[in-house]
Amino acid sequence: MTHALKPGDMIGVLGSGQLGRMIAMAAARLGLRTHIYCPDPGPAFDVCARHTMAAYDDEAALAAFADSVGLVSYEFENVPAGTAAFLAARCPVRPGAKALATSQDRFVEKTFLNGIGIATAPFAVVDSLADLKTAVARLGRPSILKTRRLGYDGKGQVMIRNGHDLAQAFDTVGTAPSILEGFVPFAREVSVIGARGLDGAFAAFDVCENEHEEHILARTLVPARIDADTARAAMDMAGRIAAALDYVGVLTVEMFLVEEGGAQRIVVNEIAPRVHNSGHWTIDGAVTSQFEQHVRAICGWPLGSPRRHGRIDMHNLIGAQGHDWETLLQTPGVCLHLYGKHEARAGRKMGHWTRVTPEG
Ligand code: AMP
Repeated sequence: MTHALKPGDMIGVLGSGQLGRMIAMAAARLGLRTHIYCPDPGPAFDVCARHTMAAYDDEAALAAFADSVGLVSYEFENVPAGTAAFLAARCPVRPGAKALATSQDRFVEKTFLNGIGIATAPFAVVDSLADLKTAVARLGRPSILKTRRLGYDGKGQVMIRNGHDLAQAFDTVGTAPSILEGFVPFAREVSVIGARGLDGAFAAFDVCENEHEEHILARTLVPARIDADTARAAMDMAGRIAAALDYVGVLTVEMFLVEEGGAQRIVVNEIAPRVHNSGHWTIDGAVTSQFEQHVRAICGWPLGSPRRHGRIDMHNLIGAQGHDWETLLQTPGVCLHLYGKHEARAGRKMGHWTRVTPEG
């Protein structure tokens, strides 16, 4: 195995949120240590062997970080390209630059997906109000104007409905380089979380069905309400995307499930080059968790089994819902995870819980 790590070695992770925390916990279970690098303190700092608090353009701090680890991974897709390139000159960065560049820009991402034969919403580049007018004339209403970069949880986007003034929509979002997306009349939102190893092996968890509230994931159900053939096609798409990106690690593909005339089809919304909230159930509900799978993949180890232990119901604890922890501790069958955040601000992910019901 090229560049494989051994138990006792240190992995580096950019980002100190709950995803980094759960990666570090999975790494610890496999005898690895984690060095977290982030400009701000966060829940991952509490569970790692080392941390560095420094800016993503602090070259001295980045060089010391790279020297201390066998490889670098990350918990978020907006790692600055310069940071990734600086680190990659010193140690393996997994997933690599192609995954970051593709997933950081909605136009590049959709062009890549269409190029490997995967359907997305129809889209057009919007750099000016004139572009927006032309795009709306082509894609119709409703349609969605989104910034090409740095959007998440519905931020940096505006729905253009009948009567919506285009100049106003452009001022809200379009002054940053943007795309207009045609509206996809989906029945459900689903995701596929898969992992590709250093040897090119691929393994996906079963398709997840995701419910959002105010653009934030509220609940994940597995198995998703999806035909067996469509589920296989969705998992196969994730494998093709991973292979085309030369990917190493866990990757998430967010998808729309469209139902027309009794048939189902998949339209890909976006790629997250990382572990994902819709995969948190795998800690309690699968043979190998998404976090362990990510660690195995980036370390050059064999992938684990993604097999499910039963039917899955995962709920996020958002904002004040975090105060429910005492009740949840007393609820039979609930596996509770708290991220150790002190302040339950609105919209903040405080924890999650999972219930696994054996299938008959
Ligand atoms: P995004 O930030 O691209 O993940 O979008 C946030 C949410 O907006 C998605 O989870 C969907 O619920 C909705 N959405 C985004 N794009 C579209 C689209 N083209 N058609 C319909 N709904 C969309």
